[in-house]
Amino acid sequence: MAATPEKPAPAAARRKTGRHRGEGQWAAGHFTPLNGNEQFKKDDDGLNVRTRIETIYAKAGFHSIDPNDLRGRMRWWGLYTQRKPGIDGGKTAILEPEELDDEYFMLRVRIDGGRLSTEQLRVIGEISQEFARGTADITDRQNVQYHWIRIEDVPEIWRRLEAVGLSTTEACGDTPRVVLGSPVAGIAADEIIDGTPAVEEIYRRIVGNPDFSNLPRKFKSAVSGSPLLDVAHEINDIAFVGVRHPEHGPGFDLWVGGGLSTNPKIGVRLGAWVPLDEVPDVYTGVISIFRDYGYRRLRNRARLKFLVADWGAEKFRQILEDEYLGRKLADGPAPEQPVERWRDHVGVHRQRDGLYYVGFAPRVGRVDGATLTKIAEVAEAHGSGRLRTTVEQKMIVLDVHEEQVDSLVSALESLDLRVTPSPFRRGTMACTGIEFCKLAIVETKARGASLIDELERRLPEFDQPITININGCPNACARIQVADIGLKGQLVLDDAGNQVEGFQVHLGGALGLEPGFGRKVRGLKVTSEELPDYVERVLRRFQTEREAGERFAT
Ligand code: SF4
Repeated sequence: MAATPEKPAPAAARRKTGRHRGEGQWAAGHFTPLNGNEQFKKDDDGLNVRTRIETIYAKAGFHSIDPNDLRGRMRWWGLYTQRKPGIDGGKTAILEPEELDDEYFMLRVRIDGGRLSTEQLRVIGEISQEFARGTADITDRQNVQYHWIRIEDVPEIWRRLEAVGLSTTEACGDTPRVVLGSPVAGIAADEIIDGTPAVEEIYRRIVGNPDFSNLPRKFKSAVSGSPLLDVAHEINDIAFVGVRHPEHGPGFDLWVGGGLSTNPKIGVRLGAWVPLDEVPDVYTGVISIFRDYGYRRLRNRARLKFLVADWGAEKFRQILEDEYLGRKLADGPAPEQPVERWRDHVGVHRQRDGLYYVGFAPRVGRVDGATLTKIAEVAEAHGSGRLRTTVEQKMIVLDVHEEQVDSLVSALESLDLRVTPSPFRRGTMACTGIEFCKLAIVETKARGASLIDELERRLPEFDQPITININGCPNACARIQVADIGLKGQLVLDDAGNQVEGFQVHLGGALGLEPGFGRKVRGLKVTSEELPDYVERVLRRFQTEREAGERFAT
């Protein structure tokens, strides 16, 4: 039985935390809601809003929606109001939320493990064309996001998604978000262990379960048994990373407390080895710690990373083992350094069963419903009907016979989906930005796409792996802190002293076994107009001055 605000904390739990300040930790006896978000979650569980959407809001329209549902609980079903068109970035911080709200929604479809069938993709494409004005973005968390969704259409969209085994349940909100998984799980020739059964069991056990639907904040998860470390495990609240234990064999190394945004932190290894069949139990233990001990006083100190930073790895592991698992975990090794810098699986690769998988790159994750439908058709004609999304805003078609590879590559390229993209198309990501996001200050998607085109034109010979991540505000949806070139959207002054859209530059961030955050280059801000010139200069200098084998981050 889960802890709830009404449930008295066990005395043993109170003794063991060592932290008695009223941060809202339920297990320490602090149940009083400490901010508006905690209050609305206490008043009614976010999951319960679905019934109201189906029975009231979808019938009576946008203006019938209770404000606490509109800007709070609807996230539990993947719905955010989108930004009213035409409001410039300078007004983002000064307008009231209701002035920024459009009467349309962003709707996020969760794709746990990035696993899709062509039937599912076709339905996603059809919904986009019928209900979302053709919009559909592949996100850097393997999801698909629609825009322009009307509340009236939401029940029908759910019906169609759920009929093919997809959902928007807890795609947003203070919930267990999508579980990232290696996009080549179960097929890669170099795989250490296939985490798919764990991803599926976590979904079954946790998602939509009211025991875990009131967390202090979002809870991000990743499971990958790929030696390429292909799910950005370092920046998730919990991650299971494939390793070979010298005695027990393949299993997972457990990481907790990663996260970007305010006070970015790389996850911490607990030094514990977890076999595949115990991953769901350990996941349940860690998410329960977060629910029970996580801080609920301040939203910007609520992510698990703050609790992990206060407790340290040793205490966190001890509480996990003693209070939640009732057993000790085996010690285990750390993951090894990946041999390749690119981890997006783009290109043509041989699977372990002798078939091939083909990864391809749209620009900055932007596709559309018609293209998704065509991808489903092309994949059906060439593969077994299985596809994957990646955490780099890319996609993969699986199970292609050797003699069909060339035909598949041509079909994808004819849709402007590159199987051998330039480093710029391959390595550039962008968040939603001012087009639809209420927190945005600058435009990102179109800016990223035009930057790619410019760099391809200006630097055709550049062949190094490079990541260029573009955010529309100080949040971290496009992971700017861990990019070679991270661009944080803000207003800057142009040469004439006018406030215009631009970016604070961060250089030299990285993921992998030597992860680190990019340095904020003091005073270095570029206007959006100047961006191609600036990035070109940086890349030309890197190309000229780099030593053999040197990465951008070193
Ligand atoms: Fe919106 Fe900012 Fe996230 Fe971009 S980084 S999607 S602008 S909140």
